[in-house]
Amino acid sequence: MLNKHYDNLFEVDMDTKIVEEKLIDGKYHYSFEDTIFYVKSGGMENDKGLINEIPLEDVYVEDNKAWHVLKEKITNPVHLSVDLDYRLFKSQIHSAQHLMCTIMNTDYHAKTIMFKTGEIESEIEMGFTTLNREILNAIEKRCNECIIQDIPIIIGYPTKEEALANIWEDYGENFDWDIQLRSVSIPGIDYDLCACIHVPSLRYLHAIKFLGYEKTTRGYKISFVAGQQLLDYIQRHYDVFHEASRSLAVAQLEINESIQKLFQEKKELASSLNDYKQKYFECYAKELCNIPELYFFHEFDGFDVKSFQQLCSIITNQYEKGFIGLLKLDDKCHVVVAKNKALPIQANEIFKEIASKFELKGGGNPGISQGGGNYSTDLITYCINKINQLNGQ
Ligand SMILES: [Zn+2]
Repeated sequence: MLNKHYDNLFEVDMDTKIVEEKLIDGKYHYSFEDTIFYVKSGGMENDKGLINEIPLEDVYVEDNKAWHVLKEKITNPVHLSVDLDYRLFKSQIHSAQHLMCTIMNTDYHAKTIMFKTGEIESEIEMGFTTLNREILNAIEKRCNECIIQDIPIIIGYPTKEEALANIWEDYGENFDWDIQLRSVSIPGIDYDLCACIHVPSLRYLHAIKFLGYEKTTRGYKISFVAGQQLLDYIQRHYDVFHEASRSLAVAQLEINESIQKLFQEKKELASSLNDYKQKYFECYAKELCNIPELYFFHEFDGFDVKSFQQLCSIITNQYEKGFIGLLKLDDKCHVVVAKNKALPIQANEIFKEIASKFELKGGGNPGISQGGGNYSTDLITYCINKINQLNGQ
């Protein structure tokens, strides 16, 4: 369904009348005598806007009619009002795609594979066999020169013969040439068949900026911004850089250097913290092991499991002791049974015994066994009795 109102991007107001009304799932679906609302197709999203001051929820085509979905009921007369800012935003990106893709098609023999309008940046996928920043810069320069020339974008309704005489792209065997054709041409650059909304001339694109590119299985994906999206992109990124430069107290262009320095400082700090932790645990282990008994029980608090394990291995490596250590973790706990290699007990056997009685998960070897479960005073009493039993042997 070709809607000739789409030829004029700036036709954003219309008075019309209701032809049909349907109530579906509590929402009102209207078809009107005429409409200016763009219905999603060709990669371009629906228009947004108001109908009698009520926000348009959706618009779709069914039975060759455009249906407009509203939350509230309306009556005649009907006034349609399209959100021009949003329409311009998507038309700028779409029209920019016409310009850049054609230049890539003709000058670089890179076929158009995919194009996508994103919220923050947009992308195209092109069949380049090779691509680098230098090539992209040259294409960007050529696009922006065309924009400066303000070349018009002309909409036409050609016959099949007229269209075939101008298009160079292969539309494939399945293309239906019997429908009403609509051409979009940028004289001297592009001639295409397209039913979307376009800007009237290239100056409406402001400029095109290629952000980056990456290799895909089919060619290269190129991210870009144009028109209002380019201005929004700059502002959005400037705001983040501005905030970051204030937080780091450096100039915006020195942010990366400053972050690298912070990472290095963090690494050095972590390493020195680890040295202190090791020294602290050595003192802690010495204090714990300064007892006449071979075996002991101790309840620990305020460590993470990894630090607790570090302390346990210092004890068993440096002292001829065996112990049951319980690390309290809120209403849970982590239990370690460990011993110096000179001692005869089997840590895994003892752990297994405790684990089966108190439903702990885990395991290990004769030297060290460990696991977690629920914290209880019964568990502590059991561990203390076990230690007393070992010391009594
Ligand atoms: Zn188009």
